[in-house]
Amino acid sequence: MNDGPLFFRRADHGARILVVDDDALARRSLRAMLERGYYQVETAEGGEKALELLSTYKPELVLLDIQMPHMDGLEVCRRIRDLPNGELLPIIFLTGDERPDIHAQALRAKGDDFLRKPVLSPELIVRIRSLMRLKRLQAEVQAERDNLLDLQKQREQLFEFIVHDLKNPLSAIQVGLELMDERDETSPTSKAQLRRLRDTAHTMGRMIQNILDIGRAEQVGLDLHKSSIPLSAWLPSLLKEMESQAKSRSHILSWDCDPDLHIEADQEFLRRLLLNLLDNALKYSPSGSRTWIEAQKTESGVRLEVRDEGHGIPEEMRDQIFGKFVRVKKEGHDPHFGSGLGLAFCQLVAEAHEGRIWVEDNLPKGSAFVLELPKARPARHGESGEAADEPTGGLA
Ligand code: ADP
Repeated sequence: MNDGPLFFRRADHGARILVVDDDALARRSLRAMLERGYYQVETAEGGEKALELLSTYKPELVLLDIQMPHMDGLEVCRRIRDLPNGELLPIIFLTGDERPDIHAQALRAKGDDFLRKPVLSPELIVRIRSLMRLKRLQAEVQAERDNLLDLQKQREQLFEFIVHDLKNPLSAIQVGLELMDERDETSPTSKAQLRRLRDTAHTMGRMIQNILDIGRAEQVGLDLHKSSIPLSAWLPSLLKEMESQAKSRSHILSWDCDPDLHIEADQEFLRRLLLNLLDNALKYSPSGSRTWIEAQKTESGVRLEVRDEGHGIPEEMRDQIFGKFVRVKKEGHDPHFGSGLGLAFCQLVAEAHEGRIWVEDNLPKGSAFVLELPKARPARHGESGEAADEPTGGLA
């Protein structure tokens, strides 16, 4: 088959090529070769002019002589690579330079190819064609990637809208369940069922909030409003929120805290982090077992632990479970519904506070989720929520 330029139009037909050479004869001869290959040609006699032509002529490939006065080709190449999108412009060095390390220098300056002078027409055209082909493929991959990123963004936005719109009907269900539970005529069996439904609705609410928060945090980060939280006054009220969920599983919740311990954190995010950990502790432990929070001062700050007597987390999964959508696989049917986003949210919150979260064994049985946050600033006069007199306590 004859693939000569006269017989069919190649994909790089008419591509704009910039020839940079201080030698007028070389420029003329390269122009002639390239025009015979159906390329458009512009020439520059030096680096300054070449850099100027980048924005006006917009070449699709540059043939660049290395040895030129004022600014050599290596420097021109380095400057092109430093420009926005300059990495993508194919550059072929041309040189009569015999120095043994000239190849290495051209490579370091980030040229794409290298030809020795005198340049032969077939070799030049083959090199240009293969670089232009690579460039086209690269552009196609880039376009495909941009397209996929757009689609992904649209999908995430749609997902966020749907999840956001689930919030209101879910709140209505929660309120309705509360009201039905408060009615005296409701039988004990129905009450137990109502509470289970209400607990499930709470868990769903937390899942929805986690999805929305993670989406927002990935876009703009978490907006923290830190204050000094007096833990021994605050922890009992937090556990109270889980009281009914714990009761319906005959679970024992308690807390233990160093007296007068304050933590510097965003109270709402910390609350949701701990509720996620407590919710998991209840979900993944047998009914009748214990879950408790311990809070201690450390040298660097405060350490909060949520401990349970559940089935624990296999060693090899301990780092992974903080990733999005990761759940520990169970044999057969998993009775707990979840999204695998709760711990990802907890990690985002810990990191936003410049802290750390991890899981270890609770001995002899269960898991201990540990959150370490940097030192709290000393409590200031007049700050709300003074520490309770009694440093430890419990909720049945
Ligand atoms: P979800 O609970 O919605 O699945 P999480 O991100 O909160 O998502 O938890 C990820 C996985 O980690 C859970 O699916 C579960 O397998 C495991 N896990 C979390 N907390 C505990 C725990 N206290 N005990 C045992 N396994 C847990």
